[in-house]
Amino acid sequence: MPMMNYDVQEIRNKFPILSRRIDGKPLIYLDNTATSQTPRSVVDAVSSGYLDFKANVHRGVHTLSQEATELQEECRRRVRDYISAASVEEVIFTRGTTEAINLVASSFGSLFPYDGEIILTVMEHHANIVPWQLLQSRRPDLKIRVVDINDIGELKLDDYRNLFNEHTCMASFCHVSNVLGTVNPVKEMIDYAHSRGVPVLVDGAQAVPHMKVDVKYLDCDFYVFSSHKMYGPTGIGVLYGKKEHLLRMPPYQGGGEMIAHVSFDGTTFAELPFKFEAGTPDFVGIGAFPKALDFIEDIGIGNIAVHEHELMEYAGTRMLEIPGMRIFGNAPDKSAVISFLVGDIHHYDMGMLLDKLGVEVRTGHHCAQPLMQRLGISGTVRASFAAYNTLEEVDAFIAALQRVIPILL
Ligand code: PMP
Repeated sequence: MPMMNYDVQEIRNKFPILSRRIDGKPLIYLDNTATSQTPRSVVDAVSSGYLDFKANVHRGVHTLSQEATELQEECRRRVRDYISAASVEEVIFTRGTTEAINLVASSFGSLFPYDGEIILTVMEHHANIVPWQLLQSRRPDLKIRVVDINDIGELKLDDYRNLFNEHTCMASFCHVSNVLGTVNPVKEMIDYAHSRGVPVLVDGAQAVPHMKVDVKYLDCDFYVFSSHKMYGPTGIGVLYGKKEHLLRMPPYQGGGEMIAHVSFDGTTFAELPFKFEAGTPDFVGIGAFPKALDFIEDIGIGNIAVHEHELMEYAGTRMLEIPGMRIFGNAPDKSAVISFLVGDIHHYDMGMLLDKLGVEVRTGHHCAQPLMQRLGISGTVRASFAAYNTLEEVDAFIAALQRVIPILL
């Protein structure tokens, strides 16, 4: 059911890039899982950060520095409220999801007991695999155990529960798969892990742009996400961590901002959250991020989710009319991502030709090679939707598929 008050044209008007043309054709941007486009309000705030506020944060008594610091700390309060964290001490700015997971694997991972086991899933992005392997390369006693999926791309929850034993010291999994779109039952998974005394990291990179996330309700130990996938600036992300863990964890990187006192006899570290924010942060991006949160909150994340779901359902139904169409990921609880292949057509060829028609989709392994191995394929074509996509764009995408498929078969 279309929503009466969802004015997609008004939303589109906020994104100058959407009026671009590709090879003379209107841009149809369906690569939102990789990164979403940015509204003018965010770009203006970045611009103002450079033109009006630029001064390093937390370092100066002068007005500019104080204003820049206030913008950054206002963002921290906004993020705290956005994800319902208990305090700003639990909100750490990073370069993105990837850095946040590296921070946890490196720092929290250094506290893992000898012979510890880490539970991951086969649908993880490389960002939630490789940091744990790097930890393992320093700590060969640690083991990684992997949860499998079923035929429709849901995690096998029995498998998950069966992997726990007395060595399990961490579980880390995505909230939403960037390939299959599966929304994992993370609350249930977190509660089970906690019943076994195991902390949990949730990779929320593909969840936060599409659904309400409440870390207090989820009770996760860590939750990570990137601004650039939620209409915000690139180069910044968030690590939410429970204070009790963050207090025990050693710093991840050393340098300015993260210290209380430095001498050659020894150094003491700053309070939370600064202990984990070594060096000059991307304070301009951080200062502009609240505009992206405003954009989402003005529409309402629930309305965005309903709109995207409608696009995905319509696209999925139309795609299945195409002979030879295979869609990977058919869980009932699915976010706005459709990964597919048609017959023997190579995903790369399909992506190249769709681009000639102005349709921007992603092709390849989507940084999820273990999942590709599990599915027995080398990659997929992936179309993904955001707040500004339209049913007309879905029609144009289907028409483009119908044009390119006969050429490639
Ligand atoms: N996890 C998931 C599920 C993702 O989709 C992505 C981005 N594709 C990442 C982690 C990594 O995010 P970033 O590159 O912004 O650090």
